[in-house]
Amino acid sequence: MSTLRFQALREASTRKPVIFEESDRKSNLFGANVFNDKSMKQYLTSDAYKGVQGAVQHGTKIDRKLADYIALGMKEWALSKGVTHYTHWFQPLTGITAEKHDAFFETSMDGSDPVEKLGGAQLVQQEPDASSFPNGGIRNTFEARGYTAWDPTSPAFIFGTTLCIPTVFISYTGEALDFKTPLLRALTVIDEAATEVCKYFDKNVKKVTVTLGWEQEYFLIDSALANSRPDLMMTGRTLLGHTSAKGQQLDDHYFGSIPTRALVYMRDLEQECMLLGIPVKTRHNEVAPNQFELAPIFEEMNLAVDHNCLLMDVMQKVAERHHFKVLFHEKPFKGVNGSGKHNNWSLATDTGINLLSPSKTPMSNLQFLTFFINTIKAVHDNESLLRAAIASAGNDHRLGANEAPPAIISVFIGGQLMKVLDELEGVTPGKLSPEEKTDLKLNVVGKIPDVLLDNTDRNRTSPFAFTGNKFEFRAVGSTANCSNSMTTLNAIVAKQLRDFKVEVDALIESKDMKKDDAIFNVLREYIKKSKKILFEGDGYSEEWEIEAGKRGLSNFKTTPEALKARVSKQSLDLFSELNIMNHVEVEARYEIELEEYTKKIQIEGRVLGDISKNHVIPTAIKYQNTLITNVKGLKDIFGAEFETIGKEQIVLIKQISKHIEGINSNVVAMTNERKKANTLNDAQEMAEAYCNNVKPYFETIRKHCDKLELLVDNEIWTLTKYRELLFTK
Ligand code: ADP
Ligand code: MG
Repeated sequence: MSTLRFQALREASTRKPVIFEESDRKSNLFGANVFNDKSMKQYLTSDAYKGVQGAVQHGTKIDRKLADYIALGMKEWALSKGVTHYTHWFQPLTGITAEKHDAFFETSMDGSDPVEKLGGAQLVQQEPDASSFPNGGIRNTFEARGYTAWDPTSPAFIFGTTLCIPTVFISYTGEALDFKTPLLRALTVIDEAATEVCKYFDKNVKKVTVTLGWEQEYFLIDSALANSRPDLMMTGRTLLGHTSAKGQQLDDHYFGSIPTRALVYMRDLEQECMLLGIPVKTRHNEVAPNQFELAPIFEEMNLAVDHNCLLMDVMQKVAERHHFKVLFHEKPFKGVNGSGKHNNWSLATDTGINLLSPSKTPMSNLQFLTFFINTIKAVHDNESLLRAAIASAGNDHRLGANEAPPAIISVFIGGQLMKVLDELEGVTPGKLSPEEKTDLKLNVVGKIPDVLLDNTDRNRTSPFAFTGNKFEFRAVGSTANCSNSMTTLNAIVAKQLRDFKVEVDALIESKDMKKDDAIFNVLREYIKKSKKILFEGDGYSEEWEIEAGKRGLSNFKTTPEALKARVSKQSLDLFSELNIMNHVEVEARYEIELEEYTKKIQIEGRVLGDISKNHVIPTAIKYQNTLITNVKGLKDIFGAEFETIGKEQIVLIKQISKHIEGINSNVVAMTNERKKANTLNDAQEMAEAYCNNVKPYFETIRKHCDKLELLVDNEIWTLTKYRELLFTK
């Protein structure tokens, strides 16, 4: 009997839910481990407090002396909570967060004067030994200095006994080496651009904040079972495994009652989130068995992104206590739904208005339409850039795989808003007559509130959907750092709003047009120009692929193809014009992503080769030997009669040999393709070789392995099966 699999099954089946008791009501716990406004007021001098507030609200610089005072207060607060270490917490381009803990404890050379210390210098800047983080060639090894610098807009927090200080990670020459830096730059640019446009409607608006509410999907698998699968361990997904007789076809998991063990885990997790100030709100089962979703209340984007990164880390840590492993991979199991991370995006003014929320007054409706239509135009003009921003080896399994948003970027806005846009478009060009204007406005006003009432107009197949008061970018992968897609979205909308302002101002000045008329005119042209990005039908259908092709929309099914848009002239110009990333920074990211893609496929290829040869084939041979013994025995007993009695066994023996041959020859061929790909020097060519020449073998090899899984004696099969992974609760 195969030990690891059966040991794991025994362990998993006798598991009891971990005892967990909520320690307090959530509102009391919320933010207890965050250096938030309340604790700052308590631990900082009033000058230090004002310094942080100024940095958060207006981006004012914090000088060294002030930093010393802030560090002192922060340290005292942390010590009061039993903290011993501090770390700069950052988001390198590896996709996971990084930390290096230092003790507060210090002593003089002779061991006298032991104290706990955190100075302003340590708070503000550090130089982690960062030469092995991906940098896309920005830093040569001899100049391998990278700095982390404090981001005061995201509050420090305590995890375990460590004070974590959110930071950006930049090179000696100032180039971004992380996800946060470009995001912060993009947030500044969109704030400026959107505030300018807001001033058409309300002079009091001084700041526009981007809001993000992500929804995190994940699988929860018993840790013993997950650990029994080398492919899950090494790649985060199953590279083989026959689909189980029952999958998700009965739709009995979606929104069903949450299994007890999972629920206890979620409650524990939520308690940790509360302490860390992550405002988690929603939890439910997802479509696939053992798949779940967690969503918070939306927040300012920089903080929301930090919270998502932190959450993914905390989820895994809390899971250990409950003997679970969290799978974040976009497609851990063939044949059941994969996981995404919907990014709900909107813009809010400092006067408390959600700019994507339709309302009842004509003026604010014009404002809504302005931001709504500009966003559509931005997506229309930059669809391939958005596609590039969500490209990854994992997400390739989802996009276009008939379950998740397709690889084609389109925008869904719902029937009612489609009608509104149609009407706007129909208005005759030139200056609007007063009657026409009021008419139209009333018309628009008359319709839009319905959108709020009728929120059922939803299209789950759209990658970018308007959902009443926000856009939801659904094509983002579940492992992704939200910054990647959100930096791009913010950038394209910021650029669009800038252009819009220029066009409207030009009409006002040169044509002596009234402001509202000018806005209407520009918006109407935008509607005409951006139409082809709007799609209300079934995004999973073949007809849409054909139709989208006719419309000239891009449809990049693989990461290497999709990533090219990152370094197009349009992309390089956009990011440098907005001062979000210079050419070197964009090109570095492109290289890093290609490399990451290549490495992932390379690892998957190796692991698949290993398990098919070390697990599947030996097990198949063992079973084949049993059959051979059986056949020989039958022959002894039955002599000539054997021909009929032993017929099926002979067929089985032959089938097994056929599949073994299939595995062997394809693993050899795959390995050869890998070797060939490895000789290529160009990152794009190498990624394409892995994608087009290596990866196709995965399916073929898998098919033979999965067939063997069905043929071979269950008792000796070493790999934990799909039904066991997916249905153990
Ligand atoms: P679903 O998409 O699953 O139907 P909801 O529509 O209820 O879920 O909302 C999903 C997410 O949208 C939540 O995480 C919520 O925080 C977020 N959200 C709601 N309003 C906004 C907003 N103005 N800006 C950004 N995110 C928002
Ligand atoms: Mg959603």
